Amino acid sequence: MFISLSSQRKWKIAKSDSKATSLREQGNVAYKKTPNEPAKALQLYNQSICMAKQGSKDLGLGYANRSAVFFNNKLYRECLQNIELARCNNYPAEMMPKLLQREERCKLLLEAGSTSTTEHNTTSHCAIKSCLELSKDGTGICTNRSLEVGEKVLLEKSFVLVLEAELAYERCDYCGASNEHNLLPCRGCTAVMYCSEECQEQSLQRYHQFECEIVDDLQLLFRGPKPARMFHVILRLFWHAVLLLLEDPEGFVKRIGTPAEMEKYRDPFGLEPSDYILYLNATCPDKPAYDKKDQTGRCVSQIMTILMYVIAVEENTSVWPRLEGKVGKKKLLDLLFRLVIRTDRLVEDSMDHAACFYPFACLLQRSDSPNAEQLLQDLQSVVVLKCPVAEGQEITISKKNINR
Ligand SMILES: [Zn+2]
Ligand SMILES: [Zn+2]
Repeated sequence: MFISLSSQRKWKIAKSDSKATSLREQGNVAYKKTPNEPAKALQLYNQSICMAKQGSKDLGLGYANRSAVFFNNKLYRECLQNIELARCNNYPAEMMPKLLQREERCKLLLEAGSTSTTEHNTTSHCAIKSCLELSKDGTGICTNRSLEVGEKVLLEKSFVLVLEAELAYERCDYCGASNEHNLLPCRGCTAVMYCSEECQEQSLQRYHQFECEIVDDLQLLFRGPKPARMFHVILRLFWHAVLLLLEDPEGFVKRIGTPAEMEKYRDPFGLEPSDYILYLNATCPDKPAYDKKDQTGRCVSQIMTILMYVIAVEENTSVWPRLEGKVGKKKLLDLLFRLVIRTDRLVEDSMDHAACFYPFACLLQRSDSPNAEQLLQDLQSVVVLKCPVAEGQEITISKKNINR
């Protein structure tokens, strides 16, 4: 159907113990240079851990070196976790006594009360004031009771995020947590790490099962200026539709192809997060509202849709065989286009670390005289009222600053 890009595409970067060794040694050098600022060394150790094959001693050695960094920085809990990971991952027996010694000292120091903790917040992705609801015309959010200045009405963690490439070995690819101490590598690729097994599991279920095989292609496709990462967020949203289709192809076609069915998904307030994609489909027009002058924008959307579809779906061996013969396949390309043309509206790109999708904040109407302010901190979006808002009134935030 589309031009094949196979001949120009790189193979996925394979795990390699010799590369893992080399990266670990570079980490050792970096650490010797600046033991008090171990960020660079940790990044190299993390890269080495990603590169090491499962079951190789290099994986165990990577964790052990990380444990030494944490020990010296008095992060004893993290140190113990890494020692455990080293032990479970083929740390060489002849070196074990040294590791056990470190473990023993760590436990003593922890008992002595030197503590440090890393917290992982696993609450649901958002907290919404119960008085908020979809506005009558379905294009914004209003309140069903009056609200005061300063009230926090909407707090969301990003539902989908895409990290900037240089942070791959510093942050969790799923939640974005800056937990560089104990990141775990994906078992299948060398490109992503996670702050916990929960994040790893969630990511696999929601998108990495489709992306792992093609991570290197995706990095090529989505590198460059920030808008490229915004399209990757769109792809990660799109996988939710693929999941729904694989789960129940006929149900998916029925829901997505019947206007009366789609009506049920126009209000995201009562939906399960896995159905947000249906809400997006129900509310994205299939014809973009480009003015005649913006033919370029439309072209970019078309080209991007096709490229993403070919690389991520048609030529992706972890997706295409599973879609073979399924009824709703054709709907996917159409849905992807609907999402792509709304990239700018759907994706928040003003943070340094990542591009994010906040399902509710992106619903808020934008205004020249907004009554609320959106604060973006630590990959969270918080909406706070700047003036009192009366019952029935819409909550609005300022327009996006195009010159940023
Ligand atoms: Zn995480
Ligand atoms: Zn992977």
